Amino acid sequence: MPSLQSVISCLSDYDPTALPVSRATAIIGDVIEPVRGIEQLAIRSALGRVLAHDVVSAIDVPAHDNSAMDGYAFAGAALAAGQDVVLDVGGTALAGNAFAGAPQAGQAVRIMTGAVMPAGCDTVIPQELVEVLCDGAQVRFGTDAVRAGDNRRLRGEDLAVGQAALRAGRVLTPADLGLLASLGVAEVKVRRRLRVAFFSTGDELRSIGEPLDAGCVYDSNRYTLHGMLQRLGVDLIDMGVVRDEPAAMEAAFRSACENADAIITSGGVSVGDADYTRQIMARLGDVSFWKIAMRPGRPMAFGRIASGGHEAVLFGLPGNPVAVMVTFYQFVRSALHRLMGADVAPLPQFRVPSAMPIRKRPGRTEYQRGIVAAGPDGNLEVRLTGQQGSGVLRSMSEANCFIVLGHDQGAVAAGDPVSVMMFDGLI
Ligand code: AMP
Ligand code: MG
Repeated sequence: MPSLQSVISCLSDYDPTALPVSRATAIIGDVIEPVRGIEQLAIRSALGRVLAHDVVSAIDVPAHDNSAMDGYAFAGAALAAGQDVVLDVGGTALAGNAFAGAPQAGQAVRIMTGAVMPAGCDTVIPQELVEVLCDGAQVRFGTDAVRAGDNRRLRGEDLAVGQAALRAGRVLTPADLGLLASLGVAEVKVRRRLRVAFFSTGDELRSIGEPLDAGCVYDSNRYTLHGMLQRLGVDLIDMGVVRDEPAAMEAAFRSACENADAIITSGGVSVGDADYTRQIMARLGDVSFWKIAMRPGRPMAFGRIASGGHEAVLFGLPGNPVAVMVTFYQFVRSALHRLMGADVAPLPQFRVPSAMPIRKRPGRTEYQRGIVAAGPDGNLEVRLTGQQGSGVLRSMSEANCFIVLGHDQGAVAAGDPVSVMMFDGLI
């Protein structure tokens, strides 16, 4: 992987104390490369895993032209007569049991959905559109009931031989597992799972089950991170709360580095805390401390550290609970996707009118917590969740989206369109 210093040294006007969100995202993307390990799995075990190779279809799917309806197959040329068509029923084609003969002109074949189209037939008239005559020996229908070629699925229309069905980097979905099965593919090679270690720092933090001493708070960030990481399908190493103390911190960073591909910490990167974290990082690797032009979530450390011959990517997130989530969704999620070799689009953003005015000043990207819902006219609109402090985790719990107010944007008036980014898992 390229070093952080080498990536940064190529940038003009790089200012770590006022780094635009887009800049930070680009630097992180340039530094991270996918892990190399690969394993082979039965497709049933591959849900959510990252495909390590293109899957090219070795067969046409479907393998034959076949019927999309229960009805009668015939040659569409019979429709040219321009009057009612009457055909003799010359046999039956069932799914998995084709009609062996070739119907003559004036003949049709009774056909079921999925049955192979008999030779010379290109059209199926659904059974509910025919009049059955002579105890089923004949059928009659109007020429306007169907057009030539209707109700027939073409060989290879789902996937043709040689076509890439799935690309390397695909995070396999239930539909993909079915697609692989339809190609007869039993096993796929996938990238190995990422191991992500995480811990919280702060002497004021208490873990659940401990008494809450005066001035202390329960550690919530580890649980938020646990949930967000679990959704990404990584292996988790929860290292608990680490005291604000250089030796304890260094030991934690070393242990994390030796056991994980990526390390995520919360707290300890804001002014005041950052000084000794900085010293530890200088000993262990290549880490930059940034002040990102965003709200919430200004301070963040990013880089790579090494210990005992192992390297790991490090994200030092701010301590404030909302800032942890914002920086995770904005930076960590896509970085971990890249590290796991996954080709995943950023969370989609779309624009909806704001139901209320929103205060904002240009020069930083803001991620306000919003609720997208239908307004009085039935169209979608977004409103704020009230208190927007970066310590107010309830705002994240109530929201279903971030209202993303861009770097240069100023105040928003009621009715103005704003960008919203729906939370992971809602889309
Ligand atoms: P820091 O970035 O360490 O200065 O922390 C900023 C704020 O976030 C402080 O109010 C901390 O108490 C709070 N905080 C830090 N870590 C956590 C955590 N793991 N869970 C809940 N609150 C936290
Ligand atoms: Mg702290």
